[in-house]
Amino acid sequence: WGLIRSLASKQLYCSDGDLFFYRFGCLEDVKSRLISPNVLLVIGFSYCHKPFECPAGRFTDACVRDLDSPVCGQCFIGKCVHALPDARVEPLFITTVHYIGEKMIEAHDRWPDREILFLITACELTLEMFGKLGHAVGFQGVGVRLGGQICNTMPAFKASERGLKPGMAVVNDDAQADMMALIRAFAESVVSDSRTVSLASTPPSRRDDIIASDRRG
Ligand code: SF4
Repeated sequence: WGLIRSLASKQLYCSDGDLFFYRFGCLEDVKSRLISPNVLLVIGFSYCHKPFECPAGRFTDACVRDLDSPVCGQCFIGKCVHALPDARVEPLFITTVHYIGEKMIEAHDRWPDREILFLITACELTLEMFGKLGHAVGFQGVGVRLGGQICNTMPAFKASERGLKPGMAVVNDDAQADMMALIRAFAESVVSDSRTVSLASTPPSRRDDIIASDRRG
C-alpha cells in the first residue's frame, strides 16, 4: 500500500539547485536535524563520480581513501569520507539504485531506535527512482544531483549500472560546499556528543583532567 500511495503522490521531494530534499524543506532543516544525538547518517557516493584511476576500482562499492595516493588526494569522495566522524555514520559507495535502497532498509533494521537520515550523490534519474522507493518506506534525507557526463538515456543508465560508462560525472561546486557544510555540522555534533557522554560517565573528581587534556591547540 505504501508503494501505491507513493507512486500516486505528485510531489515526492522538493529541490533547490542540485539538492533534492526528501521529507525536508531546505538545507537548514536538514542541518538542524542532523545534529540531533539520535541521528545515524547513511552517506552514499555514486561510483559514477569516482576518478578514472581510482585505486579501489571505478565501478566497485569500495574506497581505500589512501592518504598517500595523489588520486585520492584530489577526489571529492575521499575528502568527504575523511571529514566524517568515527561514529553514527555508515559510508557507502553506490553501485545501483537497488543497492542504496537495500542498504537503507538494512540500516533501519539494524538500528530501529535511531533516526536514519541519508545524504547521497546520484544522477537525477536515480534520485527520482530512489525517491519513489524512499517515499514508500519513509526514508528522509538529501540527494545531491550529479553534473558532468551523466547518463541521459535509459540504455546508458542501465549500462552504467553494469560498469559501462565512458564519461565521468561530478558534484558541482555549490553542491560540494553544501555537502561539506552538512558533513562538518554532523561531525562536530558527534564529537561534542561523545565528549558529553564520556564526561557524564566520568567521576566528578576526574572531569577537570579530561577537559584540560582534551584541549587541542
Ligand atoms: S578516495 Fe576516491 S579515488 Fe580514492 S579510493 Fe576512494 S573513491 Fe577511489
